[in-house]
Amino acid sequence: MSDAVRTAADVLRMTRPADDAWMRLALDAARDAAAAGEVPVGAVIVRDGSLVACDSNRTLRDQDASAHAEMLALRAASRALGAWRLEGCSVYVTLEPCAMCAGALVLARVDRVVFGAWDEKAGMAGSVGELLRHPRLNHRPEARAGVLSDDCARLVEDFFRSQRSQA
Ligand code: ZN
Repeated sequence: MSDAVRTAADVLRMTRPADDAWMRLALDAARDAAAAGEVPVGAVIVRDGSLVACDSNRTLRDQDASAHAEMLALRAASRALGAWRLEGCSVYVTLEPCAMCAGALVLARVDRVVFGAWDEKAGMAGSVGELLRHPRLNHRPEARAGVLSDDCARLVEDFFRSQRSQA
């Protein structure tokens, strides 16, 4: 986690912000990923108003298909809290979670998932399917979609546009 993120998180802890403010932090992480040539997705995990973890997509940098922002943030949060169950945690992610991440969010028992843009191609919180709040699963996080969705979507669109123009 960078010093800038830590400083921003300290400010947020003091001001008890709404979802928008945490999503802005996730957007900052997503921009870091874009700068590294990654699909720009960022995720932040918060508990009791404090930042627990923040990471961005590292699929390319790590050459790891499972290195999505949510997966990395979940692992970091579990390390920080010494627990695989992340009850009481809220996860902010710039893009609707995929099947892998939606599954991991359910398994980690997070309280709440807030995401920005819908992902019509891979989203499993309603777009392609509903895994995040599947009625047959025994844990269903509260979900909120569309927070700063224009900013979150633009980041991904700009990234793919620049990829195409380089091709
Ligand atoms: Zn994912």
